Amino acid sequence: MHSQILIVGGGAGGLELACKLGRKLGPQAVTLVDSRLFHIWKPSLHEVAAGTLDVHQEGLSYQMLAHDNGFTFVYGPMQALDAAQWQLTVGAIYSGDDGQHEEVLPQRRIGYDSLVLAIGSTSNYFGVPGAAEHTISLNATEDAERFRLTLLKLLTRAELQKSTRPEAGVDIVIIGGGATGVELAAELREASGVYAVYGFRQLLAERDVRITLLEGAPRILEPLPEKVSAAALALLQQRAIQVVTDTRVTAIAADAVTAGDVVYPAQLVVWAAGIKAPDILSQLGLPTTKSGQIEVDAHLAVQGHAGIYALGDCAACAGPDGKLVPPRAQAAHQQADYLVETFMRRQRGKPPQLQPYVYRDYGSLVSVGQSTSVGSLMGSLKGLSWFVDGLVARLMYVSLHLMHHRAVLGTLRTAVLALARFLIKRSTPLVKLH
Ligand SMILES: Cc1cc2nc3c(=O)[nH]c(=O)nc-3n(C[C@H](O)[C@H](O)[C@H](O)COP(=O)(O)OP(=O)(O)OC[C@H]3O[C@@H](n4cnc5c(N)ncnc54)[C@H](O)[C@@H]3O)c2cc1C
Repeated sequence: MHSQILIVGGGAGGLELACKLGRKLGPQAVTLVDSRLFHIWKPSLHEVAAGTLDVHQEGLSYQMLAHDNGFTFVYGPMQALDAAQWQLTVGAIYSGDDGQHEEVLPQRRIGYDSLVLAIGSTSNYFGVPGAAEHTISLNATEDAERFRLTLLKLLTRAELQKSTRPEAGVDIVIIGGGATGVELAAELREASGVYAVYGFRQLLAERDVRITLLEGAPRILEPLPEKVSAAALALLQQRAIQVVTDTRVTAIAADAVTAGDVVYPAQLVVWAAGIKAPDILSQLGLPTTKSGQIEVDAHLAVQGHAGIYALGDCAACAGPDGKLVPPRAQAAHQQADYLVETFMRRQRGKPPQLQPYVYRDYGSLVSVGQSTSVGSLMGSLKGLSWFVDGLVARLMYVSLHLMHHRAVLGTLRTAVLALARFLIKRSTPLVKLH
């Protein structure tokens, strides 16, 4: 098989690129490879974990997206790259998750004229003992679903134990007070109230679902303005979430998190303290940074390897000030648009674009539950930002998700789906219970 443009990773950036190019160039020219069968916008994984978003309703099948947008979808993990032969190897798919079962799809090799790597990021445990074994991260849908199902089991056990052990409950520790940790803590608190209504009658959400957020920096949401951190902290504390800053986790066991001299009981631990590039990137023979990201120039091209590009979390792209573009959905979206222009100019026989890619920070919004958000919006003047909170911020936050859906589904289907989901939410429990 050969594809003019081969995109690996159908996430926030890669999927938008595949859809936009597919609509213009068609399935003979554009191929998307992903190791999963369906797409979920990664910033909504904290809602999947809390049970407030149902993966089976929210997930978008790559086959459907390929059909509707005019690209070819190849299911399987990127396994190797032969840059000299301009070929990518996609690994086999087995009937079981452990790779021991029957082979369903064989290993495949795909030739390309242009290759775009967009495989996102994975957890960085910074060598903390027990972190890899005893924590769940929100890197993929499976992780978020595993968290949700474990939480349901722990709630059921606590409910059963309550009559004999009044202190029974669920202790959840979230490590990392960035956007992921803050959003998950708030979402869990709201969800725990709903769980308490549906069958867990002995459990009082704020008393029995004990949520602790641990952050190493002096304040949560450290990269954002202090006003945003303070507002988020106040909202978390109002929701009876214990926030501990300036603390370093030193070890994690199956039932506890240790930070220096303090031991926090924990049946469920979430690692949201750092990300790194997936290991496979350092095995491709391409230049990588210390953290394993693919080094790209200001045109998102990999120097010394004609035809290879990278975008999103897995790419290290320095801006004019030398700072790396942050791993954010808005950066992945902008870079996808930049590459659409790169490829379309080539297609139309125009000279390559001279303008480099420059990250434009439009600000950050952090969801604090289903009805409020906090954040700052960047003004057109450098350094100027506006604080936003409450319902307005929440509506803006939701609109980011809708804009991603619009890029891959089109306006009409996005509107119909949004309406359908709004109605479904009003006719079913607010959290997924099965
Ligand atoms: C809970 C949470 C909240 C967030 N909130 C925000 C926010 O509010 N705003 C913001 O800007 N950013 C946010 N982010 C960060 C944002 O989600 C990422 O920066 C963004 O998704 C990166 O996009 P990407 O295209 O690089 O990778 P991803 O969206 O991670 O997509 C990577 C894709 O590659 C596929 N893949 C991985 N490995 C392979 C392989 N070997 N072979 C084939 N396919 C592979 C995956 O299945 C996936 O589809 C949040 C992240 C999380 C976890």
